[in-house]
Amino acid sequence: MSEFLEVVFNIPIDSSFTYLPPAKNPGDSSTWVGRRVIASFGRRKATGFVVGLKSEAPAGVGTIKAADRFLDKEPLFGTGEIELARWMGEMYLCSLGEALGSMLPGARRDSTVPAFPADEPIGEDEIRELSDEQDAAIASMAARQGGTFYLYGITGSGKTEVFLAAARRALDAGRGVIYLVPEISLTHQLIEAVRKRFPGPVAVLHSAMTPSQRLAAWHSLRLGETMIAVGARSAIFAPVRNLGLVIIDEEHEGSYKSSSAPRYHARQVAMKRCALAGASLVMGSATPSVEAWRLMETGGMERLSLTRRLSGGEMPAIRVVDMRGEDGCLSRSLVGEIEETKALGRQTILFLNRRGFSYFFHCRTCGYELKCRHCSVSLTFHKAANRMVCHYCGFSAPPPSVCPECGSLDVGYAGYGTEQVEETVRARFPGYTVRRVDTDSVSKKGELKTVLDEFRSGGVDILLGTQMVAKGLNFPGVRLVGVVQADTALQLPDFRSAERTFSLITQVAGRAGRFFKDGTVIVQTFHPEADAIRLSCSGRQDEFYAREIVAREALGFPPFSRIVRLVFRSKNGMSASSAAGEAVAIVETLALEVEVLGPAECPIGVIAGNHRYQILLKSAALPTAHRAARAVKEGLRLPADTYLEVDVDPVSLL
Ligand code: ADP
Ligand code: ZN
Ligand code: ZN
Repeated sequence: MSEFLEVVFNIPIDSSFTYLPPAKNPGDSSTWVGRRVIASFGRRKATGFVVGLKSEAPAGVGTIKAADRFLDKEPLFGTGEIELARWMGEMYLCSLGEALGSMLPGARRDSTVPAFPADEPIGEDEIRELSDEQDAAIASMAARQGGTFYLYGITGSGKTEVFLAAARRALDAGRGVIYLVPEISLTHQLIEAVRKRFPGPVAVLHSAMTPSQRLAAWHSLRLGETMIAVGARSAIFAPVRNLGLVIIDEEHEGSYKSSSAPRYHARQVAMKRCALAGASLVMGSATPSVEAWRLMETGGMERLSLTRRLSGGEMPAIRVVDMRGEDGCLSRSLVGEIEETKALGRQTILFLNRRGFSYFFHCRTCGYELKCRHCSVSLTFHKAANRMVCHYCGFSAPPPSVCPECGSLDVGYAGYGTEQVEETVRARFPGYTVRRVDTDSVSKKGELKTVLDEFRSGGVDILLGTQMVAKGLNFPGVRLVGVVQADTALQLPDFRSAERTFSLITQVAGRAGRFFKDGTVIVQTFHPEADAIRLSCSGRQDEFYAREIVAREALGFPPFSRIVRLVFRSKNGMSASSAAGEAVAIVETLALEVEVLGPAECPIGVIAGNHRYQILLKSAALPTAHRAARAVKEGLRLPADTYLEVDVDPVSLL
């Protein structure tokens, strides 16, 4: 007879607590596990998760209190989800309660970009014959249920069609499907395709849903009324019944990694979930992450290649322009191509990964550089708002007209953002219709869709913007893509900066020539000789990966090692720095095969007034790095003003 509830809370404490079931309406004990309860915890009431039942009270505990009440009528989590959460605890060094908390719908927002309205009219789906390559990919997947596959296909090679066909197979076999996309608000075309293809309920999990909408979708999936869930990162936890397939579109995207605890990677969680459920996993991209590439090379993942564009286009010619001989942000070649594109009645996309007007205020007399008062990053000038803005913490101040340090009037701005490019473009091309999309210019629900619809219908000559124009969009009229500044990520002190630059250029360039053979791409750079730029622009993908893998191996970086990053954060710089120092001392007493890098100030040393110091624990084997990190977590007495962030397999080291 099970009498007691085993309850965990969403706090960084690794133990469970025992309660009696609520006195009122306890219901049947078979429904207890997986429900949330409200219970007294210390001096307050807290929400906990019932993760198990006990027939005996733990020894040495006085009177056991009853929980106040169940929050849910039915379990939110099944035993499978609780098992997955236990694995997350081990993997990401968090408590079971934190893991369950991160799985819960509505617990956290994935994106701040407004989502598209869900109730769009849906037209008829086109029936298409699959290409031989697409057929072959589907046949390989069908031959090995439970396998892990990578759909490596150039941009526009019809990966979506393969994903949809694979989903069809799984659903026909009575199994459920999770379809992950990097950011739901940029995935309107896909969601339409899924709705058309699979009449009946589809759970689209997006950030604009209210908590109760999310809960309703969650229950509908648990009951098996809905067999397919589409969403961003956290949709990997969707309680799809009888899971048969997980799809990860644009696998290389950084948004699959959570930036708050537990810092899980949806790809890693997907691998575990699929293994537990006997489900197949297929991910895809034109620019796989280096980790994924390595897995394909070593046989951990089966590569399915798509090499041809299917809607009449061809891979565009890419021209590299060395900006060292140019003035301003538009090179002569780019200006010429924009004019030619307009003369042909076609359209241009300009891409720049930086918003604002200029990102750097400096004094030519004393060299002073205007930084955020709370972060160690330069402020960005936003001209329309006439403010200097911090992109990390949101701090803003009026722009100075003299140097705050020496009073000199010889001050100026350097570097350009989308706002300045827009001004330049409008001045240089009067009579052209120009639209800018970035989080400053499209912030309201529906605005992004309006601009993109306008562009698709041909009413706009030049679409200018940040990542929002780079991802997953298909516009027939586009002839020219201009990458205004390809170097923005290249100089960052992070071992993934080459990979990111390579992937961004390849993805943006892929927006051109999708439907016609005359696609043209211009890549402006100050570093034409860099591998990431040279090889992406000449279409030598495989060579880039080969070189990058050699470089990673030489330096012992992932995928040749595993890293656990520990960041110590405090308003008090001394506390953060000495905690990092003590952590190193703890690891050194362990005599483990682990390399300790640091302690060092993080490349971004202060964010929002918090000083940040880090150590990196690097080891050939993850369990070793895990042991070192666990020893720090358990052995270190942190002062009350100092926090420890644990990041297993970090994607950013900034
Ligand atoms: P990817 O995801 O690989 O970038 P998409 O799935 O967006 O590519 O497909 C690119 C274009 O090719 C789309 O317009 C799509 O409608 C079209 N397409 C896909 N498969 C086929 C096919 N078998 N026959 C004709 N056109 C196709
Ligand atoms: Zn000065
Ligand atoms: Zn700031």
